[in-house]
Amino acid sequence: MKRSLTTSVILTLVMFLLLAVFVLAPQIARRANLVPAALWVIAMAIGTFLILHSGKVYRYRSAFFVIYGFAFVLVFSAHLIEGRGSMALSQETIARHEVPMCPVAIPQVIAPAVIKGIMIFPTKLIGGPYGGFVPVLFIWLVGVVTLGRAWCSWGCFFGGIDEGFSKVLRKPRLSTKSMHPRWRYLPFAVLIVTVMWAFAVLEPVYCKWLCPLKLVTEYRAITDLRTYVQAIIFITLGMGLLIILPILMKKRTHCALFCPLGALQSVVGLANPYRVRVDKDLCVSCGKCEQDCPTFSITKGEDKKSETFVTCVRCGKCIDICPAGARSYGLVGRPSTLGRAKLSSHIRGDRPNTLQRPLAALVGFVEEALDPSTLFLMTAILFGAILSGSFVLGAMWRLVNLAVHGTLLLH
Ligand code: SF4
Ligand code: SF4
Ligand code: SF4
Repeated sequence: MKRSLTTSVILTLVMFLLLAVFVLAPQIARRANLVPAALWVIAMAIGTFLILHSGKVYRYRSAFFVIYGFAFVLVFSAHLIEGRGSMALSQETIARHEVPMCPVAIPQVIAPAVIKGIMIFPTKLIGGPYGGFVPVLFIWLVGVVTLGRAWCSWGCFFGGIDEGFSKVLRKPRLSTKSMHPRWRYLPFAVLIVTVMWAFAVLEPVYCKWLCPLKLVTEYRAITDLRTYVQAIIFITLGMGLLIILPILMKKRTHCALFCPLGALQSVVGLANPYRVRVDKDLCVSCGKCEQDCPTFSITKGEDKKSETFVTCVRCGKCIDICPAGARSYGLVGRPSTLGRAKLSSHIRGDRPNTLQRPLAALVGFVEEALDPSTLFLMTAILFGAILSGSFVLGAMWRLVNLAVHGTLLLH
């Protein structure tokens, strides 16, 4: 749903100021970063305006999220090669607990840490280039509270990878129409099995045996048959779930069908009040949203109207494409009211006088600014822009370095 020009401009300025404080100001000490940081803040402010004023979320959010995902891969990989000479993890790095904490490993780590007091992921509690376990856990918890499962469309630095590949083709080459909805439970099964397995053997088994993201992050050095088999599993799952299936199906197959953190996020994210809501009176059961949802999160209910499953990542695609305007961001128990008759319309009346006109404009601004969909979008954009900032800045520098010196590495 569109917001008025006035509301969009004012909220864009608010976003610009917030980003200046949270993204630009921390770079003042590192003067060289000021220009890329300013460019990123301006880009995010323009994106905020386009999303708010056009009412279209998916196109602009997706551009941001894919840039973020690939910037992360570029910066993280280059960082590893600069620090260790390779993306491979040596036994010494593991023994010294110097592996950067990965948020996808959080589900396996919690039970052994709480019940047995053992940290099974080989990272520092606090410290190291990416902060260690405590800061990553803190950021993830803030994400759970502020975004819920929307973390997977606005905050996670891995999600942009399969989203990026899912946009390569204009039309899917592999139809998912006959796919049974029960496939949506697969990540929950992966979550339960890996959490129990990790607790039993006190090792991060998902990271050791199953993680498709090893394809784009660090992996254990191949030294024997066991690590050779692990590498084959990582490459097969990574190529399949992150690249080939997203391209062919136009779906986020890793996030929708495998990731255990995404499954956990669906459950703990219920504590977050934002949802994608369907107005059943408006829905004309056309099936477009069900067909295009990138995470298989929409099915038809008994009344043939569309329903949203708990795995919805709040990507905004169904909201943008619904021909009836039946889908919107809302709160539990409170749908969006954008585009409906409200107090400002009553104040304005048919022939507003000089007092009614500014009063209606003021009330209209408050109504639009405090609408659940606007509050959700402002929160999500701010969170995403802050988290992505350092990776996007780093990627900009490395691309400049590539153009000038012919290498992505800074030393
Ligand atoms: S499903 Fe997993 S990898 Fe995908 S965005 Fe969510 S947490 Fe990240
Ligand atoms: S796209 Fe809109 S009208 Fe069509 S099924 Fe989905 S919610 Fe209903
Ligand atoms: S239900 Fe809508 S917002 Fe949620 S993941 Fe599917 S398309 Fe995106």
